[in-house]
Amino acid sequence: MKWEGLIAQYRDFLPVTDKTPVITLREGNTPFIHAPFLSQKIGLDVYLKHEGTNPTGSFKDRGMTMAISKAAEKKAVAVMCASTGNTSASAAAYAARAKMKCIVLIPDGNIALGKLAQAMIHSAHVIAIRGNFDEALTLVKDITSKYPIELVNSLNPFRIEGQKTAAFEICDFLQHAPTFHAIPVGNAGNITAYWKGYKEYHQIKKTGLPRMLGFQAAKSAPIVDGHIIDKPETIATAIRIGNPASWKSAEAARDESQGLIDKVTDEEILDAYKLLAQKEGVFVEPASAASVAGVLKLHNANFFHGQKGSIVCTLTGHGLKDPNLVINNIAQPVVVEPTLQSILKEIGI
Ligand SMILES: *Cc1c(COP(=O)(O)O)cnc(C)c1O
Repeated sequence: MKWEGLIAQYRDFLPVTDKTPVITLREGNTPFIHAPFLSQKIGLDVYLKHEGTNPTGSFKDRGMTMAISKAAEKKAVAVMCASTGNTSASAAAYAARAKMKCIVLIPDGNIALGKLAQAMIHSAHVIAIRGNFDEALTLVKDITSKYPIELVNSLNPFRIEGQKTAAFEICDFLQHAPTFHAIPVGNAGNITAYWKGYKEYHQIKKTGLPRMLGFQAAKSAPIVDGHIIDKPETIATAIRIGNPASWKSAEAARDESQGLIDKVTDEEILDAYKLLAQKEGVFVEPASAASVAGVLKLHNANFFHGQKGSIVCTLTGHGLKDPNLVINNIAQPVVVEPTLQSILKEIGI
């Protein structure tokens, strides 16, 4: 079967018409990977939905193909977003393809290098503010409501429409919904989108519904703590958000699915980040590992005891987005003299 992008694949489920110009980089159709180490440990079948293999390296491309196509349909000439990095990388790429201007507000100093490089090379107008993501989003909402610039954050409903297709792909692969779906929660658009996708597919194809398990970073956990966090902190910059735009709909996904939203520490995130790379062979960015960190936390609390079936963990972005983290904090190569003897000594022969 040939894959022409998620709008072509799931057109019947998306608000597009013959008049919508499809702006695509053939996003979607991402690997659905069985995780033997995690499955053995937890006692259910664990699968990884590796969204880091999308064209710009994160799930944001699913929403962006829809948002930019709909902006093109309206003949928009400019789009704007606030971003912790991946939204700007994706918006910049799709806007370039659609010949639109792209303006990006980012928090100064808290953006992974790979993401910033992407926005720059696609020639977005990147403005770093001396503030955090939440402040950037407030400014972007203000500007896009007053000027003819399309907002392409996940407040844009077309973003959610595109992102829900990941749930369709999972149901198509398994032939039904998983028992549990674990996902990192930042601005909470993605958990909203998956839940919408699962519900819509179930209505038409009777695929069943999973229990949604959302995970925030411990010091950026407004939904878990029940209040806005003024100064969110975490090594997982993609979920460093103190006032999620889709707060209410994330709670609805949690409650309707009889799921939960919990928090994981940076240490738990880093442990899961290393485990995914070292035991499953999958390199993701730290925020993405929050889903697996959360599943391990629940496992340690006996949450899955007596449960059957499958757990799908969304891995939201690629590890190459943030390589400095590995080199500066985890490991560096050993340097030796260029002789046979020194190499044999190093490898213990
Ligand atoms: C955007 C993003 C998230 C958070 O998704 P929300 O929809 O904001 O909850 C998590 N991980 C990565 C890598 C992201 O880019």
